[in-house]
Amino acid sequence: MKPTSVSQHTTLAQCSEAHRLARVEKVPQREAAWFHHGTAVHSAIEEYERSGRSMDVEAAVGVFERSYDALVEEAQARQPDYGMWMAGGRTKPQTDIRNRRKAGADQVRSYLDWAEDDDSSIWTTPDGQKALELPFDIDLYGVRVKGFIDQVVEDPYLGLVVRDIKTGTTKAVIQLATYRVALEMTYGVKVNWGDWWLGKTGTTTKPVDLRPFTARWLATQYEATTAIRDNDLWSANPGSHCFACTVKDSCFLYSMEP
Ligand code: SF4
Repeated sequence: MKPTSVSQHTTLAQCSEAHRLARVEKVPQREAAWFHHGTAVHSAIEEYERSGRSMDVEAAVGVFERSYDALVEEAQARQPDYGMWMAGGRTKPQTDIRNRRKAGADQVRSYLDWAEDDDSSIWTTPDGQKALELPFDIDLYGVRVKGFIDQVVEDPYLGLVVRDIKTGTTKAVIQLATYRVALEMTYGVKVNWGDWWLGKTGTTTKPVDLRPFTARWLATQYEATTAIRDNDLWSANPGSHCFACTVKDSCFLYSMEP
């Protein structure tokens, strides 16, 4: 059974043509500093939490900067043409790379500030793993879904909470709902709530009630998008999301002669 993931589901639901171009045609993809900004902030927060929140601010920022620099360097080697880099508005990619190095470091600092007053703690799974970047691989009524959960925390009021770290703005409830069901199927635990820690605000969102999201409901969502993928039912859906599409240069809509 070919697995799917939350991000693959989201791309297929938003514009399956983007998935076809990237995964089937394997066309050259555009780069963006925001990918590496997000990954490096995740690495720093993970290391900080693995240290039992004993790591100091400068050490955590150092993890971010080393990770970001290495990822950007690899991306520049992969795609040396800045014309193939995305950046917001009129910002040049080179400027965006510099700005995000500072913004990411500030987000790591704000996570550590926020953690000082936070009462939640990282959950330990029944098989002894700290629930950080926790892998899962589940069979949802015949659809295999794989992924990693940023954090599962024990909250003194809400019990177990799935938490996703966001350095940008996109938030999809199906992501938290999938994590809830994955934990229930893998460890037999109840998780009723989820939230996001947002780099933009430096705190968590209000908790989202995940109780309505059952395994059966999730299976119907993943069945719909894997059917598109497995039966070549591709369709393009142009919209504001085209701005951040990594395969835009190969899309019929933007590569046609006027
Ligand atoms: S540019 Fe827009 S319409 Fe074209 S593949 Fe990307 S998301 Fe789809």
